[in-house]
Amino acid sequence: MLNFQIRGEVVTCDDFWDCGCEKDYINRKAYHRKCNVCGWEEGESPDSQAEEVLLYHEDLTLKEKQEILRAIKKAYWEHGLGKSGDRKLEFNWESK
Ligand SMILES: [Zn+2]
Repeated sequence: MLNFQIRGEVVTCDDFWDCGCEKDYINRKAYHRKCNVCGWEEGESPDSQAEEVLLYHEDLTLKEKQEILRAIKKAYWEHGLGKSGDRKLEFNWESK
């Protein structure tokens, strides 16, 4: 079970954090508390955006993907996030 929070205009997933790398910067807290590449540590780094976890983190179970998508949609519908912009959420795996 993943945990989410709404911060300003974005939904973050508490179970992941962003390090300073340009690629593969989404780290799962349960596995990595420190990035061996850039040296950033979890405690000093922001939680990852749910949308980015879904799009860029490859090590997710189908159940986790569904949880994340549900959380994003819920936030958009219930809190009106993303309605002001023209962001589109299209996830191909959903129809698979
Ligand atoms: Zn890093």
